[in-house]
Amino acid sequence: MRSVEEHRRVVAGLIAPRPPVTVALADALGLALAEDVTAPLSLPGFDNSAMDGYAVIADDVAGASEQNPVRLPVVEDIPAGRTDELVLKPGEAHRIMTGAPVPAGATAVVPVEATNAATDTVEIRASATPGQHIRRAGEDVTAGSVVLRAGQVVTPAVLGLAAALGLTGVTVVPRQRVLVLSTGSELVTPGTPLKPGQIYESNAVMLAAAVRDAGADAVTAPMTEDDVAAFRAVLDSYAGDADLVITTGGVSAGAYEVVKDALGAGQVDFVKVAMQPGMPQGSGRIGDTPIVTLPGNPVSALVSFEVFVRAPLRAAMGLPQPDRPRLTAVLTEDLTSPRGKRQFRRGVLDRAAGTVTSYGPPASHHLRWLASANCLLEIDEDVTAVAAGSPVSVWDLS
Ligand code: AMP
Ligand code: MG
Repeated sequence: MRSVEEHRRVVAGLIAPRPPVTVALADALGLALAEDVTAPLSLPGFDNSAMDGYAVIADDVAGASEQNPVRLPVVEDIPAGRTDELVLKPGEAHRIMTGAPVPAGATAVVPVEATNAATDTVEIRASATPGQHIRRAGEDVTAGSVVLRAGQVVTPAVLGLAAALGLTGVTVVPRQRVLVLSTGSELVTPGTPLKPGQIYESNAVMLAAAVRDAGADAVTAPMTEDDVAAFRAVLDSYAGDADLVITTGGVSAGAYEVVKDALGAGQVDFVKVAMQPGMPQGSGRIGDTPIVTLPGNPVSALVSFEVFVRAPLRAAMGLPQPDRPRLTAVLTEDLTSPRGKRQFRRGVLDRAAGTVTSYGPPASHHLRWLASANCLLEIDEDVTAVAAGSPVSVWDLS
């Protein structure tokens, strides 16, 4: 049997980054920058007012106060967006709004609150220090400087900065495109009536969501019955654009194992991994496209995705912390675990208390428990019992 670590290495070795692309700002959120970003212009681009008020020469209002206001003619009115270049002469005031260009010659802005707000002759009721309430050109960003580094993940604020610099796009590591394909003749799409012996198909929507949650793009192929020709046909028509194919079902030891039957003679290895759930696994390539074949039981499928696929997928997109956070918590109850297998139990982690409680039975069809768990407990191969009060390793899924 293959160890969990060995299979992680094999799967990770299949998944490679796509070449960088330039995308519109609106499409870049959450992706890693592939290049440093150099500012094409300075921010602010020009000296502008930080307040609504009056542009003046500080010396002209020296000594101004409530009791002894200085009166100045208001020669210009400068709303934000005025584009002509103005000059303020000694003895003048220009009414000015926040973000409007400060006229040449002005050395300070007096806030409207320190005036009578007049538009003909303004009473200035406070003195001003030179430079006051003027946002200087280049004080935030100097043209030519590196403002964002390759590897940084695009956040809303990164997009705001890029747009402020006049950029329309950024060069990023693109999302991995993952094709999800479920197999099983018993499967029926939700929304249609079930016949006896049929079940609703649940892996595709779950894994596609897990793929998106990992930061990648998911495409769901139509599920196929346990028929090699049908499976191959879907694979051939959908796998072309994918960077990774994930299948579920048809890889264990029974008959009608469609994925194994279709791919076993090619570049896909079907192996047993020493873990519970998720023992039957497969990985390899179809043509050049990596494929990971997960077991069909929904819990096995999602736990396998967590253990083998999520981290390399994130790493290939340059995303930080590809692995789930791991921590140690105190187990609240006694647990048993099979000898020779790494067990991943669903659990409920109480972060404040530092405790973890196993949630639901270990068997791999108990989706209900998985749906309300917030962590996986990882119990080593050589451990067969863990007593309440013992430290246990936890993967934080929240
Ligand atoms: P398999 O790996 O194909 O042997 O399937 C193992 C178990 O998982 C069986 O009980 C299947 O019915 C179930 N199963 C497989 N694929 C799916 C799926 N896409 N949605 C829900 N259950 C599934
Ligand atoms: Mg099956």
